[in-house]
Amino acid sequence: MIRETVNLIDVCIIGGGVVGLNIAREISRYRLHVCVLEKEEDVGRGCSKANSGIVHGGYSDEPGTLKAELCVAGNRLYEQLDRELHFGYRKTGSLVLAFAAEELPTLEKLLENGRKNGVTGLRIIERQELLLREPHLNPAVLAALLCEAAGVTSPYEFSIALAENSLVNGVDLRLQEEVLAIEPLGGEFHLKTSQESLRAKFVVNCAGIFSDRIAAMVGIDEYRVSPRRGQYVILDKDQNHLVQSVIFQVPSRLGKGILVTPTLHGNLMIGPNAEEIDDKTDVGTDAETLANMVTQARRSVPGFDMRKALTSFAGNRPVSNQKDWVIDDSRIPGFINLIGIDSPGLTAAPAIACKVFAILQQHGLTMEPKPDFQPQRLPIIRKKAADFAGDLNATDPSLHIICRCEQVTEAEILDCLSRGIPVRSLDAVKFRTRAGMGRCQGAFCGPRVRELLSRELAVPSTEICGKGECSSTLVKRARRSDLQKL
Ligand SMILES: Cc1cc2nc3c(=O)[nH]c(=O)nc-3n(C[C@H](O)[C@H](O)[C@H](O)COP(=O)(O)OP(=O)(O)OC[C@H]3O[C@@H](n4cnc5c(N)ncnc54)[C@H](O)[C@@H]3O)c2cc1C
Repeated sequence: MIRETVNLIDVCIIGGGVVGLNIAREISRYRLHVCVLEKEEDVGRGCSKANSGIVHGGYSDEPGTLKAELCVAGNRLYEQLDRELHFGYRKTGSLVLAFAAEELPTLEKLLENGRKNGVTGLRIIERQELLLREPHLNPAVLAALLCEAAGVTSPYEFSIALAENSLVNGVDLRLQEEVLAIEPLGGEFHLKTSQESLRAKFVVNCAGIFSDRIAAMVGIDEYRVSPRRGQYVILDKDQNHLVQSVIFQVPSRLGKGILVTPTLHGNLMIGPNAEEIDDKTDVGTDAETLANMVTQARRSVPGFDMRKALTSFAGNRPVSNQKDWVIDDSRIPGFINLIGIDSPGLTAAPAIACKVFAILQQHGLTMEPKPDFQPQRLPIIRKKAADFAGDLNATDPSLHIICRCEQVTEAEILDCLSRGIPVRSLDAVKFRTRAGMGRCQGAFCGPRVRELLSRELAVPSTEICGKGECSSTLVKRARRSDLQKL
């Protein structure tokens, strides 16, 4: 049944990805009714969950573009945000490798771009220094662009942390609520969702790959956002010693090329490719494409062992028919469009939020600070000491191990259930605690997490969605046994 929300919402944000949630958290500092509408069962399930997790330095985008400006500004906000929200961020530095003399001018060009964009800690390093830093690189490498400002984060934990903190600060988060229609009427907006009818003074369109459809709902129909898929393989943590920094190759027209990177939690990740596809929701992977990527990645780091492959995944870049990102408030007063926020959107998201905040202020939205704004959010995943004495049968939840591979305790899972966002699936637990992300990929802990959820939510275990089952689309993935043969 469709409900009618009578109260006028100040700011309605469409899309609970890393962009929408950074905006929500930023404006939750003020006495406003802010609402986030997200069509999926959890936050961060669009391309905010399936990307490289790199906090880029900001040298690869054309000077003068929004991408360049907001990437550099966003990068600088990460350390402080992580201190407040504890989602996980590590400055690793990045390297763009050149293997042939004809690639060296590209390094020079990137260096020049970076300097114009205001990136610090950028320089070109020669083979000898490079191999001292990264001894497992292909010894045929000639030189590299080093960017000290780059780092890695956990993109889905960032979204979850932002959502939890926004909630604590009064943001109204509505999951499984798809926006179906928007009508500008009498200086406000009437929204029809799959659950209710709402009225809002301001609407911010952060619907990622679907942002063109949201814009079209208010009659702005010149934008097209198309999916450019990127597939990845994740390897076991025992392969992580092979690289310390994010390793790129000289980029191509379609993107930054295949990278080899340590992940925040210590796995090794290879990807992404760049495929123009038709279906915005198709995040499948296939062994043939991954085999090509593995060959390209071996050019940078020859020695990784594909028998240690754990899983694959893919994300769709929202690539628009515009040259740069669109952050536009000019067509319909009060309607702010964010179109084509592809890479480096994860890096830029905190700075995008500041920009949208400024736009809202210019539009006359009264921003009265909340004296009780709570900037801190505690982590869910606890650091375990080397002598941590967890046990599969312990009665103390903080010692009771549920996921053996990732050492996830019952206490951590109980904690993630108590943060205000409904957590009802194995996936939702996995993205918060890492239960199911290790070597066994949930074969051991899946039933244990299901049992725990069933007990805590007081629902039959058959009602708990498994891996990927709560998503609105079915995903076809390359089999692990095929990955291990690549
Ligand atoms: C392969 C790949 C690699 C990348 N690597 C990096 C990287 O290393 N570093 C970096 O900085 N950036 C990277 N990016 C870019 C980054 O992931 C995106 O820029 C960022 O996640 C965009 O966030 P978003 O919130 O705009 O979009 P999304 O995360 O897609 O969020 C949009 C949300 O809107 C919701 N939605 C859509 N329609 C509706 C509707 N009608 N009603 C309600 N909700 C709706 C969706 O369900 C979704 O949750 C990469 C992207 C990809 C795909």
